[in-house]
Amino acid sequence: MKNIAVIGSGTMGNGIAHTFAQFGYAVNLIDINADALQKAIDTISKNLDRQVAKGTITELDKQNTLDNLTTHTSLKDAVADVDLVIEAATENIELKLKIFKDLDIYTKPETILASNTSSISITKIAAATNRGDKVIGMHFMNPVPIMKLVEVIRGYATNDITTNIVMELAKKLDKVPVEVNDYPGFVANRILMPMINEAIYSLYEGVAGVYEIDTVMKLGMAHPMGPLQLADFIGLDVCLAILNVLHQGFGNPKYAPCPLLVNMVTAGKKGVKSGEGFYDYSNGVKDAEVAAKFTPNP
Ligand code: NAD
Repeated sequence: MKNIAVIGSGTMGNGIAHTFAQFGYAVNLIDINADALQKAIDTISKNLDRQVAKGTITELDKQNTLDNLTTHTSLKDAVADVDLVIEAATENIELKLKIFKDLDIYTKPETILASNTSSISITKIAAATNRGDKVIGMHFMNPVPIMKLVEVIRGYATNDITTNIVMELAKKLDKVPVEVNDYPGFVANRILMPMINEAIYSLYEGVAGVYEIDTVMKLGMAHPMGPLQLADFIGLDVCLAILNVLHQGFGNPKYAPCPLLVNMVTAGKKGVKSGEGFYDYSNGVKDAEVAAKFTPNP
C-alpha cells in the first residue's frame, strides 16, 4: 500500500490524511468544498508545527508530510490509482451509499474501500458496491494523530484478507487496531453513547448540574473528560445521529435520545463546533479545563 485517498476533509478526514502522510503514504485528500480542503491543510500544518515544537518530529518530517498531501474537489481522478480509500464524509447514510457506489466504479477492482463511520452499518455500505469482501470499517478516534485506537469493523461479507491488510496497516501507523463485528454502534459507540445520553438525562431530570456531572465522572471514574464535555467535543449532532442509529437498529427504548439533546441540536447548539453546547465556547476557548469552569445554562 502506497497510495491512499481520504474522502472528506473535516475533523476526522484531516486527521486521517495527516497520519497517513506522516507515515510516508501519498494521500489524495478529497472534499466537495474547496474551503474545507484549505482549512484542512492549514489545520494539518498547525498540528505539525505543534509536533515539531514538542520535538516528536523534525522540520524535515513536517515538510515531507505536507509534500505527501494533494487536495482534490473531484472524486473520479483522485481515486483511480489508489490502493485504499478511507471515506470520512458527513455521517449521512444516503451520502455514504452514493460515495461507495461511485468508488466501486472509479477505483481499481482490488482497491480496499474503508469507511470511518461512527455508526452506519458497514454491511449496508458494502451492499452499495460489487465488492463486499473488500469493504470494511476503519474507525479512527478524534484527534486522529494522537489517539491510538482504530476500531476495525468487519461487515457481513468482509473477508479475512481485507481484514488482515487493514489490521496490519493500522499497526504501521503506530495505532492499535481492534477487530469487531458489524452491529449498531460497533463497540465504541454502543458503550459510550448510552453513557453520554444518561449524563444528559441526569441533567434533564435535575439530578445535578453540568459541572457536577462531569466532575463526578472525571474524579470518580478517572475519565480525562466528563461525558457532557466529551459530547461537546464529539458534536451534539453527531451524538444524536449515533443514538438514533442505536435506537432504530436495536428497537430498544433504552437508546432513545434524551429530549434535551434533541432540543439543543434543533436549536443549533452543537458543542465546540457551534460555539456552545453544555459549555460556552463563544470566546474560542477549547481547552478542557478552562471550558469546564464556565457555568452553562442549557
Ligand atoms: P465533518 O462535518 O467535520 O466533515 C465532513 C466533511 O465531509 C466536510 O468537510 C464536507 O464538506 C465533506 N463532504 C460531504 N459530502 C462529501 C462528498 N460527497 N464528497 C467529499 N466530501 C464530502 O465530519 P467529521 O466529524 O469529520 O465526521 C466524518 C465521519 O467520521 C463521519 O462518518 C463521522 O461519523 C465519523 N467520525 C467522527 C468522529 C468525531 O469525533 N467527529 C469520530 C469518529 C468517526
